Amino acid sequence: MTEKSQAGQSDFEERNPTSKRSLDAIRHSCAHVMAQAVQEIWPGTKISIGPPIDNGFYYDFDSEHRFTDEDLVKIEARMTEIILGKHDFSIEEVSKEDSMAYWKKRDEPYKIELLEGIEGKVTHCSHDSFIDLCRGGHVDNTKRLRHFKLLSVAGAYWRGDEKNKMLQRIYGTAWSEKKHLKEHLAKLEEAKKRDHRKIGQDMDLFSIQEEGGPGLVFWHPKGGRIRTLIEDWLRNELIARGYDIVYTPHVMKRELWHTSGHADFYSDSMFRPMKIDNVEYQLKPMNCPGHILIYKNSLRSYRDLPLRYAELGTVYRYEKSGTVHGLMRVRGFTQDDAHIFCMPEQVEKEVEDCVNFAKAVLDSFGFSEFKVELSTWDAAKSENYAGSADQWEKAEGALENTLKHMEIPYTRIEGEAAFYGPKIDIKMVDAIGRDWQLTTVQFDFNLPKRFGIEYVAADGSRQAPLMVHRALLGSVERFFGVLIEHYAGKFPLWLAPVQVKVLTINEAQSEPARALAAELKGKGYRVDIDDTNENLKKKIKKAVLEKIPYCVILGPKDVESKTVSIRRRDSKQINGIAPEILFAKLEEEVRSKALQPCLE
Ligand SMILES: [Zn+2]
Ligand SMILES: [Zn+2]
Repeated sequence: MTEKSQAGQSDFEERNPTSKRSLDAIRHSCAHVMAQAVQEIWPGTKISIGPPIDNGFYYDFDSEHRFTDEDLVKIEARMTEIILGKHDFSIEEVSKEDSMAYWKKRDEPYKIELLEGIEGKVTHCSHDSFIDLCRGGHVDNTKRLRHFKLLSVAGAYWRGDEKNKMLQRIYGTAWSEKKHLKEHLAKLEEAKKRDHRKIGQDMDLFSIQEEGGPGLVFWHPKGGRIRTLIEDWLRNELIARGYDIVYTPHVMKRELWHTSGHADFYSDSMFRPMKIDNVEYQLKPMNCPGHILIYKNSLRSYRDLPLRYAELGTVYRYEKSGTVHGLMRVRGFTQDDAHIFCMPEQVEKEVEDCVNFAKAVLDSFGFSEFKVELSTWDAAKSENYAGSADQWEKAEGALENTLKHMEIPYTRIEGEAAFYGPKIDIKMVDAIGRDWQLTTVQFDFNLPKRFGIEYVAADGSRQAPLMVHRALLGSVERFFGVLIEHYAGKFPLWLAPVQVKVLTINEAQSEPARALAAELKGKGYRVDIDDTNENLKKKIKKAVLEKIPYCVILGPKDVESKTVSIRRRDSKQINGIAPEILFAKLEEEVRSKALQPCLE
């Protein structure tokens, strides 16, 4: 063993404690301390890996003991003792043989397996009595780790492979300052309250059922109403913006997916093929090849371009059962997909239109903040990309010029483009400050070449069109999940599955209440009525749980004076309103897609 270095090599930057590097060092070091605590409390527990992640860290353990939420408190207590012991972290270079001998003696099979995959010297990191096989990225001393909290336990396959043993993963979060930890925990608490899976169940919007299969979504009537509104909005916009709406089959010959390259490069994410009349067919994971077949079906002239094919295309992708999550990560979903075929000189205008369309989505669905990322290629590794340097330069230029011209701030991310072309991603920021990547506008130099598509140019020559993939909502399922969490189920009036609930105080109002409900329905509103014998307080409580924007209450006085009383979702009560005023205000609120109630 050689070169023992002390605190000097810390990845924690004193002057910049909130940089990514500093926070990663804090989080990863916390994982070390957690592993020490766990092994002390449950001897015989085997350790595997403990990396930093966004906002925190985890460590995967193999233990006879099943970790519970109560255990997290115990582990935290021991971690705090270790942290207050102010131990230095030190890192030491070790020969692979010495390291192997050490981990064999410790009987740590996961470390041995990791070591087998490493060539040359390795490093051991130690603090207090704990040693880990680790590449580095630590703080200088455990005293930097005071602001942490353990969050949850989950199962995780060793190396993410379902064929391997399921380990127990403990998640934690850690920050450089107490204030940041508190803010983060408050955000997590708020996110929990907004969990779309819980709200989806409480409001009876959708379900994912064991009997149906993981990652496959059932849209219930109320969720279906919202989806219809989203899709109707989208279809109208598509038509107004010069798109053609197309439909393509859900299964197509497997051969087509060889032409597109998906069968060779994307097969891990595809459902297995099926055989019909001795020919292999494939459930579609993407809509692009279908749109290309439509393009290819006629001879195209430069006069036809740009062509914009849009489809609410349902696709199926294989996601590991451990990774599916509510509506956010599913195995079957509907993309609001479109492919634009155009000439090089048309592309900037098309990209600008896409970005404007994305902004219309933000405005209409009540998001006020967004972030834009431009992902480019890594010119030094051009052999890894489809398309020529000239194509990449022009495409990246078109994307960048558009953003500059539109005065949209963006972050340029070098080397993050897909192999087939550069892209713009737009992330929406929700009500509690979380980013959601929804919109993407991507160039593709690969598919036009694979399918050999072309158009007849003005000079009579055959040219390959530029192809742009774009999705605005991303997937309707995920977008719905984001909307639920953004609004915490309290949808604006135009999107609410039930907009108005008519409540009676006693039997005498039953008839006028039904007449009012019928009148509202006739005007196109989504209306429920509660004229049961329950008392008003309970009726209101029920409507509040259903997050209905307006309760219209009919009592004896209201019937007599031909007025109604309103109880808003935010519990504000307004009495003695003429029905005409109610109708007018509802109309205004829906039309303007208002985020605040118009009826005051
Ligand atoms: Zn480490
Ligand atoms: Zn596509």
